Amino acid sequence: MESFDVVVVGGGPAGAAAALAARRHGASVLVLDRSGFPRDKVCGDGVAPEALDVLAALGVDVDAVTDGYPAVPRLRLTSPSGRTVERTMHRPAVVVPRAVLDGRVLDAALAAGAQFRRHTVRRVTSGPDGVDVDGVLTAGVLVGADGAESVVRRALGIAPNRPDRLAIALRGYAPAGDPGVQVITTTEQRWPAYAWSFPIGDGRANVGYGELVSGGATRAGLLEGLHRLLPGVEPTGLRAHRLPLSTGRPRLPDGRVLLAGDAQSLINPMTGEGIFYAVLSGAFAGAAAAHGADAGRVFRTALQGRLGTHLRHSTVASWVSRWPRVMDAVFAAAHRDQRVFDDVVALGLADGRLTGRTLLGAGRRLGDPGAVSGGQARAGGDL
Ligand SMILES: Cc1cc2nc3c(=O)[nH]c(=O)nc-3n(C[C@H](O)[C@H](O)[C@H](O)COP(=O)(O)OP(=O)(O)OC[C@H]3O[C@@H](n4cnc5c(N)ncnc54)[C@H](O)[C@@H]3O)c2cc1C
Repeated sequence: MESFDVVVVGGGPAGAAAALAARRHGASVLVLDRSGFPRDKVCGDGVAPEALDVLAALGVDVDAVTDGYPAVPRLRLTSPSGRTVERTMHRPAVVVPRAVLDGRVLDAALAAGAQFRRHTVRRVTSGPDGVDVDGVLTAGVLVGADGAESVVRRALGIAPNRPDRLAIALRGYAPAGDPGVQVITTTEQRWPAYAWSFPIGDGRANVGYGELVSGGATRAGLLEGLHRLLPGVEPTGLRAHRLPLSTGRPRLPDGRVLLAGDAQSLINPMTGEGIFYAVLSGAFAGAAAAHGADAGRVFRTALQGRLGTHLRHSTVASWVSRWPRVMDAVFAAAHRDQRVFDDVVALGLADGRLTGRTLLGAGRRLGDPGAVSGGQARAGGDL
């Protein structure tokens, strides 16, 4: 039977990053995906700068990966009661269609010596000396980077996220408004829920709307939310996909089978951002694979060390944000103070913390009911 040091199931951002990291440790690497690349993935296409940092550290030419897609410097946030704050982000994001991004990142992994094969994985069996894949391949270590409906996760006996820790979102493409501004509009109705409009740079924007599965989400309801929050926008190519939120992430097992990205439920519970966590966890998984039978423990410890505090803070923040008034207060504080705005962005898009100044700023606004209800923020004015 054919054998590889590392088999990666899924060639998305998590899988490609795992392959890159494993190659840096000299492993023979095979990436399996049920799709050929490039392929589309239902997503908002927003890429946090921290995700590009991870790829750069893996030796990827990130200018080539984002080529043709200009940075988007500003972010406009609207709170559940309709308060708006718009500021320049500490570091600009980029919006690269996944039909482009994922193919480019996987190409970088193949250029680094990983192999790719189109194959739908159905059965993964871990033994003392390796992992059997569908009776046709063996792997010293297998990385499950097979997304939100992970077959590898199921093979480990790990249940999918509960409906209150699982979101679903619908996205499409529409003519863009201001090409320099990413827009996120939250809503009190069916809260926590929000719509986004992320300009791609080619005249289009990726637009969408998402909410928790536990609220009884339907396609008609998602469409209604999209049209309510982004009036006048008529997107084409609408498709929905599930988002396993990090509030439902499982304890990672010991052994030779690792989970990265959506397969590990590493999606930010407040923003739906997952690409940063996918490449970061993929990179840690690929590096841990060198430890063979001990890879699971090494991976869990390393990831906990890097992301543990952030994941605890984002879990607490997502729990507290169930009260729309709190979100109003946080947005009001972010309007007053660029540093609070930057902290909120880092907590929502990367590995930031719930900082003292965010808590203090929001607390002050909560204590002043007039400050957080109704109206549109004036730039630099008082909310
Ligand atoms: C509507 C929506 C909007 C989003 N917006 C954003 C955003 O703007 N920014 C952001 O950072 N994140 C966003 N996310 C989250 C982001 O899309 C995911 O977190 C990210 O794609 C995770 O990457 P991954 O590599 O773990 O999984 P995926 O990108 O899903 O890749 C998994 C791969 O595994 C393959 N696969 C699956 N099953 C098998 C199998 N049995 N055998 C072989 N191959 C298999 C699939 O074909 C796929 O290529 C959004 C998600 C949704 C649904």
